[in-house]
Amino acid sequence: MAEIYRIVTPPIQGNAYLIVDEVKALVDVGGDAEFLLSKLKRYIQPEELEYVFLTHGHFDHAGAAGKVVDATDAKLLFHKEELPILNDPMRNGSRLFGRSFTPVKPFRLLKGGEKFSLGSITLEVIYTPGHTPGGICLYEGKYKWLFSGDTVFPHGNIGRTDLPGGNSLLLVESIEKLVKLDVEVLYPGHDEVTTGDVKSQIQQSLEFARIFA
Ligand SMILES: [Zn+2]
Repeated sequence: MAEIYRIVTPPIQGNAYLIVDEVKALVDVGGDAEFLLSKLKRYIQPEELEYVFLTHGHFDHAGAAGKVVDATDAKLLFHKEELPILNDPMRNGSRLFGRSFTPVKPFRLLKGGEKFSLGSITLEVIYTPGHTPGGICLYEGKYKWLFSGDTVFPHGNIGRTDLPGGNSLLLVESIEKLVKLDVEVLYPGHDEVTTGDVKSQIQQSLEFARIFA
């Protein structure tokens, strides 16, 4: 079975997840490429990395992507609606944090529904706009894992929709997709990995999101 390593990244504690299966992949990279690459080397050789998925384009999740892809030759994958956020320092937040920014080029633009086999696990792309226009979650149906980016967080929390491109109605629709999934482990974009009662936590997120929609 695949091993998952949570890497808490600077500057504002975004979670990156390294998945070590026959194929190695990262879900998000954080905002500091040197930090991420040094952590990565504890577990794998950088050139072993095959995929970098971005749940969305905000700097605290994706800011290091350009340099990480350059250093590893991994294939960069994100949703097509996220391209304007990712490469705009005003909208992705990198200017706000005074960070240099390397523009990214996707290996392939996603639209939702794609499946990527990593060996023992398969990740399915779920299109979940709302926090940003091109947000995605990744779902592993056999082990019931959900990598939720900034769409939902543990304990019924939700991603904010007041940043550029945010949309509270779309967030509700996206969480409606997530409550239909059978989820046992939640790997959020911030906060702790959560097990137990995850389905009801996502249901709480839906109810919370409806209040603001
Ligand atoms: Zn975000």
